Amino acid sequence: MAELPARESMEFDVVIVGAGPAGLAAAIRLKQLGDISVVVVEKGSEVGAHILSGAVIDPAGLDALLPQWRGEDSPVATAVSDDRFYFLGPALAVRLPNFLMPPLMNNHGNFIVSLGNVCRWLATKAEAAGVEIYPGFAAAEVLFGADGEVTGIATGDMGIGRDGEPKASFTRGMELRAKYTLFAEGARGHLTKALIARYGLDRDCGPPKYGIGIKELWQVAPGLHRPGLVQHTLGWPLDNRTGGGSFLYHYGPDLISVGFVVHLDYENPYLSPFEEFQRFKTHRLVRDTFAGGKRIGYGARAIAEGGWQSVPKLVFPGGALIGDGAGFLDVPRIKGTHNAMRSGMLAAEHAGAALAAGRANDELAAYEAAWRTSAIGADLWKVRNAKPLWSRLGTLMGVPLAAADMWANSLGLSLGTLRHRKPDQACLEPAAQCRPIPYPKPDGKLTFDRLSSVYLSNTNHEEDQPVHLLLRSPSLQRESEHDAFAGPSARYCPAGVYEWVDEDRAPRGPRYVINAQNCVHCKTCDIKDPNGNITWVAPEGGGGPNYQNM
Ligand SMILES: Cc1cc2nc3c(=O)[nH]c(=O)nc-3n(C[C@H](O)[C@H](O)[C@H](O)COP(=O)(O)OP(=O)(O)OC[C@H]3O[C@@H](n4cnc5c(N)ncnc54)[C@H](O)[C@@H]3O)c2cc1C
Ligand code: SF4
Repeated sequence: MAELPARESMEFDVVIVGAGPAGLAAAIRLKQLGDISVVVVEKGSEVGAHILSGAVIDPAGLDALLPQWRGEDSPVATAVSDDRFYFLGPALAVRLPNFLMPPLMNNHGNFIVSLGNVCRWLATKAEAAGVEIYPGFAAAEVLFGADGEVTGIATGDMGIGRDGEPKASFTRGMELRAKYTLFAEGARGHLTKALIARYGLDRDCGPPKYGIGIKELWQVAPGLHRPGLVQHTLGWPLDNRTGGGSFLYHYGPDLISVGFVVHLDYENPYLSPFEEFQRFKTHRLVRDTFAGGKRIGYGARAIAEGGWQSVPKLVFPGGALIGDGAGFLDVPRIKGTHNAMRSGMLAAEHAGAALAAGRANDELAAYEAAWRTSAIGADLWKVRNAKPLWSRLGTLMGVPLAAADMWANSLGLSLGTLRHRKPDQACLEPAAQCRPIPYPKPDGKLTFDRLSSVYLSNTNHEEDQPVHLLLRSPSLQRESEHDAFAGPSARYCPAGVYEWVDEDRAPRGPRYVINAQNCVHCKTCDIKDPNGNITWVAPEGGGGPNYQNM
């Protein structure tokens, strides 16, 4: 490759990577603290374009950041009015009485939102306070100083062809240098992953655990809309060994967010989270809700499920992890927004104090020391055994025991802390030991295929650019992912990016096709490939989904 020109550089007090709830809360809090220069880079074409969530949010984060928000015109408008939980069998739906649920699971006082729109609104607050936000710019590289400290990030070069050579449209990335850099990339951030490895931040914690959440947005017939209704299910169509469940939220003008989460420690490589979601919509509990309605949005995103036991060390010289990138999601509640915001504020307060003391590019050790005794720690501590119990004992045994454990913890009783066993990629069983799962064909009205779904995510990538899904060893992919595990990437990817074609090609065997332009940036391949053979890196800034109202 030709030698590239030097990058231009800009200096800030704080650089923030990612304009999700964590990054924006950190930016706003820094400005509330004083005259601190702050820049936020966001890989989506606009703030909110890559935000995919449920979402029923606990307003605790917003209350702490913007105490006056309730009096304002904001996208946080639909209060939860009815909260239902069901266990499903193929033909039955058993409602679990609310009084049996641990109090922390109660959704009253929470709000149903489009988290993307909440982020758009938070971005206007941040900009009004003087934060610079650069959407359409992916942080592609971490910058290090002479002593190994983080000194900022570089945005990716634009206009590099698939062959790695600069095109006529080539523009060099920018260096954004800072005294402190906060990484708010969400679940499985790619720079975050590299930083965890570089500084050994996971030395003293359990393996990270994830789920994949797939969501559709529906405009439903007005008579079927019940604003404020929040409904969760577990059980069918998943088997007892596979964790996960559905959510269905009525909000806004005739809108329903419906989605399905599958824990990524599932074992059967024939399982398809996308098809499980499509099957779920055919259950008699929910199918009529969609009659006469129209599907208007689709997307998918990994969820950080490790909780208390999986949170890595958060700080390293010159920077810190915040939000889902640090793993602050409360799994049984499927809620991470409030803790993402809280962690952004907490890190901002410690960065602000360090700046006021004239410090720079050192460790924000006080942030690390503070989180477990903060509201975030209190939240995650009470639910820490839910995921390990579910993973070890299955849905029928594990979930009731998890509920009992959460009750005990809510009453101040601790029954110990269970460890997570294996990373998700190590949980797949060889295909020879598993049964293929026959999935019904989509009907195009209630159930759909992947490609028509991806179309609704408005995903767009410049086609002539290097593939952003890096395959370390093609031969390992064929011998292991295909031959031993029957090609699970063709099923776990919710966007149909991976395909094995030419199965009968002699003598070289099938070909692995990576349709990178369809990628919705969910990060599942980076997590679930059985050999860790796929690494997700940021494509050209602005590429990826363009979610609206998600
Ligand atoms: C299906 C689903 C349902 C959920 N339901 C709920 C719910 O009901 N309630 C709730 O509270 N939580 C819910 N969550 C979790 C919630 O969405 C997250 O906890 C929350 O969004 C985390 O905020 P964050 O700022 O840490 O990360 P994110 O919201 O993921 O934001 C990260 C941002 O950083 C950007 N970014 C990442 N890497 C880079 C880079 N290198 N350069 C530039 N930009 C970058 C991304 O594009 C994105 O905009 C759900 C999640 C999913 C997937
Ligand atoms: S290629 Fe990977 S990150 Fe992209 S949509 Fe598929 S599984 Fe998700």
